[in-house]
Amino acid sequence: MKVEDPRNLRSIGDSTSIRDIWDLPSSQIMKFSFSVRVWSKLDRARTGTLNLGTGKPLADTPCLLLTTRKGLPAFITPELLDEIYPAANLLQISPIHFLETPPTSLISGVGGIHLLVGLPEYGLAAFARDSLMCEANGQGTTKLGAAFETSGGRRLVGPSKYMELVNALKPDFWGSLPDEVPAWVSTKRNRMSVDRTLNWLDHCLSLHSVGAIFGTVVGGVDLELRMHSAQETAKRRVSGFSLGGFGLGESKEERAALLEVAIERLPAELPRHVSGLGMPEEVLEAVSAGCDILDSTYPHTLTTGGYAMTFPLSIQDEHDSEKLSIEECATLGSDSSKINLRSMSYRSDTSPLLKSCECHACCKYSRAYIHHLLNTHEMLAQTLLDIHNVTHYLRFFAAIREAISQNSFDQYKSWFVSRRR
Ligand SMILES: [Zn+2]
Repeated sequence: MKVEDPRNLRSIGDSTSIRDIWDLPSSQIMKFSFSVRVWSKLDRARTGTLNLGTGKPLADTPCLLLTTRKGLPAFITPELLDEIYPAANLLQISPIHFLETPPTSLISGVGGIHLLVGLPEYGLAAFARDSLMCEANGQGTTKLGAAFETSGGRRLVGPSKYMELVNALKPDFWGSLPDEVPAWVSTKRNRMSVDRTLNWLDHCLSLHSVGAIFGTVVGGVDLELRMHSAQETAKRRVSGFSLGGFGLGESKEERAALLEVAIERLPAELPRHVSGLGMPEEVLEAVSAGCDILDSTYPHTLTTGGYAMTFPLSIQDEHDSEKLSIEECATLGSDSSKINLRSMSYRSDTSPLLKSCECHACCKYSRAYIHHLLNTHEMLAQTLLDIHNVTHYLRFFAAIREAISQNSFDQYKSWFVSRRR
């Protein structure tokens, strides 16, 4: 059942209404639509449905874009994706990964990234930022293009090259090329970032031929520039927005204000994506501000560090979960949200990573075995940890959607944050 926006915003959820608003001529954009089902009463959180068109499964929002390397998951084979993560049907790629190889002629020759990696039924979203390889710092970027650290050294990527990559990859939706800068740059550099990102968006739009384009909003930690960037981006003919430049040194207080001023100026009927916010509290903060699509390397980072997520997803889970004292956490290298499987204390622990979890790793393997695999540098350790971490993280997103649907997101967020203090 569709619930109307209590703030009397424009009609939502109908691709025809979006076309009327933007008068879009592109058949690609006509296929892409977003509808909101429930609005949270006390903040901007909302749950909805993303329809990529072309008969692909719908994605419920707020949702996660699974991290990939060139379209493939890092620790499992693509054939196992559906079996292990049945709740995930959106994958994130970075066009920058394809600068070196394979050539764009080969990618477009086989019909795009979906067919190249054998995942035609999945939604693939392309955003320039790659938090696994390097954080955006703005260094080396010029008016000709954004600088990225790649396996072949630092590369300058202008909008023409970026669009060559995007048009070859044929993602379902993608973000325009941003000039992202960290929190500590000068106002002059920040203003330059906003102007360049808008110019590059116009350039991307002029060369746009595939997928739905998300206009990137930047502005660093400057509220005025964030507002200006959002207002100007909203004037363009885009299908959604990507909030760039977060997780780059801004404080928690700055982030909340920056998200608010930007999202206030974006049309409510279009989806919003954000990069760089992956800690559970950051995800809740972004959702509370009105973000619909998140990509995050948080599960990947925990997996490679030998950690398993253990934070409870509900009040019931909290009652069932084990409680570690501050001293135990310090000894184990763990905290209230994760455990460190490298710790010797798990050497003979035959319990699963998390008792309430029904993932493949928790159903079949013990903490002791995964501890052993880590100690002997067996790759299966990362595979099992990632199966658990991604499953748990996807369940976290499902719990968020459920809380919004039940009009209890504000309570859920308060409970979650309070237990972590
Ligand atoms: Zn598990």
